Amino acid sequence: MNVYDSARMADVLRPLGYAPVDRPENADMIILNTCHIREKAAEKVFSELGRLRKITEERKETTGKSTFLAVAGCVAQAEGKEILARAPYVDLVLGPQTYHRLPEMVARVARAGGGVIDTDFPVEAKFDFLPEEAAPQTSANLTAFLTIQEGCDKFCSFCVVPYTRGAETSRPVSSVLDEAKRLVESGVKEITLLGQNVNAYHGTWEGRSVTLAELADKLRSIHGLERLRYMTSHPRDMEETLIEAHRDNPIFMPFLHLPVQSGSDRILKAMNRGHTADEYRNIITRLRQARPDIALSSDFIVGHPGETDEDFEATMQLVKDVTFACTYSFKYSARPGTPAAGQPFQVPEDVKDRRLARLQALLREQQDAFNASLLGTVQDILVSSTGRKPGQVMGRSPYLQPVHFEGDPSLIGRVVKVRITTQRTNSLGGVLCEEALAV
Ligand code: SAH
Ligand code: SF4
Repeated sequence: MNVYDSARMADVLRPLGYAPVDRPENADMIILNTCHIREKAAEKVFSELGRLRKITEERKETTGKSTFLAVAGCVAQAEGKEILARAPYVDLVLGPQTYHRLPEMVARVARAGGGVIDTDFPVEAKFDFLPEEAAPQTSANLTAFLTIQEGCDKFCSFCVVPYTRGAETSRPVSSVLDEAKRLVESGVKEITLLGQNVNAYHGTWEGRSVTLAELADKLRSIHGLERLRYMTSHPRDMEETLIEAHRDNPIFMPFLHLPVQSGSDRILKAMNRGHTADEYRNIITRLRQARPDIALSSDFIVGHPGETDEDFEATMQLVKDVTFACTYSFKYSARPGTPAAGQPFQVPEDVKDRRLARLQALLREQQDAFNASLLGTVQDILVSSTGRKPGQVMGRSPYLQPVHFEGDPSLIGRVVKVRITTQRTNSLGGVLCEEALAV
């Protein structure tokens, strides 16, 4: 979502005459858009600020030009005052819900000479104030993110999101459809709908509330939109109608990121996740019945306070039962202000390290096995760029794997059929099917 937010900040600043530059050395303004989810991400902000300070001081010395330095995102929201105290050379600190006000903030900094903080949760909806002409976000402008829901009311024991992004809100359907149409008109073929709890989406449409499945059905009618994904979902909001949409809506990719965090019921309860391990298994079974080619991705946390060896083994068992194509796994990181941070029975770092290593080895095995299972199959590849070697092009499979194959650059922007023939560590190789050329 930070990638999306950064692109929208650029949109807001464009009318003021700002345009992207390739290096911070050449920038009149630098906005560091930050993440607070784990301690490591938050700590990086201060080392990065130190690096940027050097760059801006050198620029001032060599060219006489000052650089406007801002910190945005969730670290800004949570630690705004500390940022200004530790890095007084920062001109502006702004949270994730106020960046539509950037032009007036820039003017305020000009008046005040720096040190401005705006970390409100304003009553006006940010999206109503963002400009319509969105800039291309990603390579070749074929894929784009689109935020449809923000914030969270679930208050998992370990998580800062409800405090940094605020309460759960959904954008109205018409606003989402308008943005999606503009993206498709600009050449986008694949949209990933974003939200901290994207499947809790309940935007309004003609006076009633609309679910994610219904929204996806409306998006399906946009001519030229070929692929739809959504991220991140919560198991508790995986309604039957959404599972059925994976069977009935052809633009849904057969790939779903559905974080489970732990396979132990005791820990899931301590985490306040609101479901059991078996309930998760049951959702996966129903998804696979609805869409047999669906592959799953997930997030795991090891070492949540109170996690015993037995709890961890339950996580390993869940992974073995479900089998995942791709996953993200983290050591529990205590976040100030969250309920878990203050709990007794914190798990020692070396225990977390050992558990994470074992879990990641199993997940890696499953990822390799999934990639190997595609060898010999024909996959639809959205071609996005020229490839690593001359004469090659590269694109993404429905499962987001990069696939390299011999092909003409004129294929860029098309979905073509490719037979998968080789497996590398983080990508696949293939051969373009003859019939794809005829289409
Ligand atoms: N809304 C999503 C997750 C958003 S946060 C959900 O409910 O599943 C993205 C991921 O970061 C989480 O799934 C979790 O695995 C990880 N994460 C969040 N807080 C963490 C913490 N305190 N320590 C370690 N990992 C954390
Ligand atoms: Fe954080 Fe996700 Fe839990 Fe919300 S549902 S508190 S975003 S982990």
